[in-house]
Amino acid sequence: MSEKCSICGQAGERTGKRELRPYGVGGALVCAGCVLGDSEREAEARRCLERLFIQADMHGVDLQLQAGSAPLPRIRNRSGS
Ligand SMILES: [Zn+2]
Repeated sequence: MSEKCSICGQAGERTGKRELRPYGVGGALVCAGCVLGDSEREAEARRCLERLFIQADMHGVDLQLQAGSAPLPRIRNRSGS
């Protein structure tokens, strides 16, 4: 994995402040450390998350939020079990 945050340019990690999520402008990858604490970026992240929820709903899947301060959608297939 060599994906990088579109804001700070640092390589992403699986967890923590360098965890990348597609919540930047236009779905760009951003790390949690860059988004949290910046109200404009947080607002954009929220808009992205809302779009994900709407899309997931249209496709009949449930999104589950990970516990913690930053939203991480987990897609579960509703028809799975
Ligand atoms: Zn960053």
